[in-house]
Amino acid sequence: MTDYPHLFTPIQIGPLTLPNRIIMGSMHTKLEEIAGLERLTAYFIERVQGGCSLIITGGFSPNVEGQLSAGAATFNGNANVDDHRRMTDAIHAAGGHIVLQILHAGRYGRHDGIVAPSPVRSPINRETPRQMTADDIERTIEDFAVAAALAQRAGYDGVEIMGSEGYLISQFVAPRTNHRDDDWGGDFDNRIRLPVEIVRRTRDRVGADFIVMYRLSVLDLVDGGSTEDETILLARAVEAAGATLLNSGIGWHEAKVPTIAQAVPAAAFTTATARLMGKVSIPLIAANRINTPEVAEAVLAAGDADMVSLARPFLADPDFVAKAEAGRRSELNVCIACNQACLDHIFSGRLCSCLVNPRACHETEIVWDTAETPRRIAVVGAGPAGMAAASVAAERGHSVTLLDAASEIGGQFTVARRVPGKAVFDETLRYFGNRLTAAGVVIRLNQRVTTADLSDFDAVVLATGVTPRQPPIDGIEHPMVAGYLGVLGGATVGRRVAIIGGGGIAFDVALYLLADIDGGVDAFRREWGLDGAPDDDAPRHAITMLQRSDGPMGRGLGKTTGWIHRATLKRKGVRQVSGVTYQRIDDAGLHITVNDEEQLIEADTIIICAGQEPQAELLAPLGEAGIESHLIGGALKAGELDAKRAIEEGMRLAASL
Ligand code: FAD
Ligand code: NAP
Ligand code: SF4
Repeated sequence: MTDYPHLFTPIQIGPLTLPNRIIMGSMHTKLEEIAGLERLTAYFIERVQGGCSLIITGGFSPNVEGQLSAGAATFNGNANVDDHRRMTDAIHAAGGHIVLQILHAGRYGRHDGIVAPSPVRSPINRETPRQMTADDIERTIEDFAVAAALAQRAGYDGVEIMGSEGYLISQFVAPRTNHRDDDWGGDFDNRIRLPVEIVRRTRDRVGADFIVMYRLSVLDLVDGGSTEDETILLARAVEAAGATLLNSGIGWHEAKVPTIAQAVPAAAFTTATARLMGKVSIPLIAANRINTPEVAEAVLAAGDADMVSLARPFLADPDFVAKAEAGRRSELNVCIACNQACLDHIFSGRLCSCLVNPRACHETEIVWDTAETPRRIAVVGAGPAGMAAASVAAERGHSVTLLDAASEIGGQFTVARRVPGKAVFDETLRYFGNRLTAAGVVIRLNQRVTTADLSDFDAVVLATGVTPRQPPIDGIEHPMVAGYLGVLGGATVGRRVAIIGGGGIAFDVALYLLADIDGGVDAFRREWGLDGAPDDDAPRHAITMLQRSDGPMGRGLGKTTGWIHRATLKRKGVRQVSGVTYQRIDDAGLHITVNDEEQLIEADTIIICAGQEPQAELLAPLGEAGIESHLIGGALKAGELDAKRAIEEGMRLAASL
């Protein structure tokens, strides 16, 4: 008996009977462009072997104008059908199915040939698109249909037509971006003509036994987007045109509401899909922030959708489905919605990966086998770097002891999890805890390690992390001064707060102090104004953040998430002062100069978030004692440290020991 009966009920979609209700949603990984189809195949195969029965590829454009960027993946007359055939054959041989997503970026493309229904620039792109002519539109419909026919020849089980997220099709549907007055604009029937024609022409070309999935924008989250009634009408029109099933898209990329970040509660948007249930007769798929089997099960049990689409959870754990089905939930590596190694990489032109699973998209590159000579290895420090190193080293057959001064494993993650949205870090701690135990790692806590404790080991991995930096400011010992560790640990903080530092931890501390205590879906909707004007309750603290460097704060925050933190702090009235010189701290507060002018920041509490220094004092004595030692994570370098780097370094080092 499965723990998730709805999830593991078979479903018929078109010609396929799937054993469960989970699909792997489309993710652009850049493997398509940077690494080639062999690595893409290896990445997909691991997911199929982990129980995933239906995969949707990243977006392939039907023509050059529709590319996401110059040289990005396309699937048209020039597509190498034989290479794709090898990939689809391998996936079928492994027991899976695969659907090719066809995506025309429209005005979101990052190249100089972009097109759109009207020449309206997107707020997230510098280029203004060229207005498509009627001939362009006709040719584009044909390109979609040709791409689908090619996909069929290449052995795909179907196509997904990308009609959401603000790409070309959304741009035609919404009055926000469609200002035309010909057959392709103006009234609703004209605005939806493009998606309906694409689906109809595609269905005509591929016949009945081929999946034509349509990704419908069930919620645009922009001004001038579709109404609820229009969304239902479009769903019905697409069904009538021949779609096999409807997937959900939430929010355009330019929306000023977070849709998949940590700030978004689990399954926060599935009600938008639920509104379509019973309005069409083809299956509906819910998406966004469905990151665990129990969340997915609850969506289906509530009748909000017929299936669920999970994307990033398949980066975090290729065995998501198999583990859920076999009742191995405690072994699941859960996506923490950080975007740090997936979307942030993609949006900065790098290969996709995963913070909690660096092997994602690196399946052929980060590999390890049993060590030829098992050794006694000590890993000092059970933060992300140490946990990753110890688990891989033990899985390779080494005899591993993991030591930490703290009373629990996790290092800074045990503090970070108190920040709003980051409670999910507990999942990472649980995952590594289980993995360490399964691999037979001996864990010794509450032990501050000295060189003498390490003399019996063949090799030592120092994963001792960092210590917070104490800046040399006059009066820094004043009782009103607190460290971020103390504050996040629950220390009392006065109403007026000055934060020294404007990096990731300073933002986190400010968010922690201003957080809505509720933290659920209703609070999220209130906060982001989804049901009317946003909350304007007086914040509990008046906060000033300061940094010595010039320019805006938080430049090091994630590319796809930094704007959320900046917007939240702005809305809550946090003042940010750059270009500061710290003078002194006294009973009145923090004295600074800015542009040679003296200022007093009156404060009840001053919180130090001024970065960290590496903690590696064991290195030199170990060297003197002739013991092989290796530094990883914060102990190696405190600057630009994050858990992504720490885990990957731990894993890669252990694979080589
Ligand atoms: P640490 O996590 O610092 O672990 C070092 C461990 O070594 C500690 O447990 C310590 O007790 C132990 N130790 C040290 N010396 C000894 C000794 N002599 N004997 C025994 N044990 C010893 N990163 C992200 O990527 N994303 C985020 O969203 C994020 N948010 C954060 C929010 C906050 C509030 C904080 C504080 C950090 C955040 N980080 C985030 C940073 C992330 O936690 C660190 O980059 C990561 O923990 C570094 O891992 P590490 O293993 O190198 O060191
Ligand atoms: P950080 O991002 O490097 O910021 C350090 C801050 O301290 C800067 O604003 C810096 O500004 C200031 N500073 C440095 N030296 C100082 C000094 N001597 N006196 C006064 N101020 C000083 O470091 P962090 O905020 O501590 O974060 C640590 C790491 O954790 C980061 O690298 C980050 O990647 C990670 N993290 C990530 C997230 C996330 O959401 N992805 C969240 C939290 C933490 P000036 O030098 O301009 O004064
Ligand atoms: Fe999830 Fe973060 Fe991994 Fe992306 S990098 S898949 S958001 S855990």
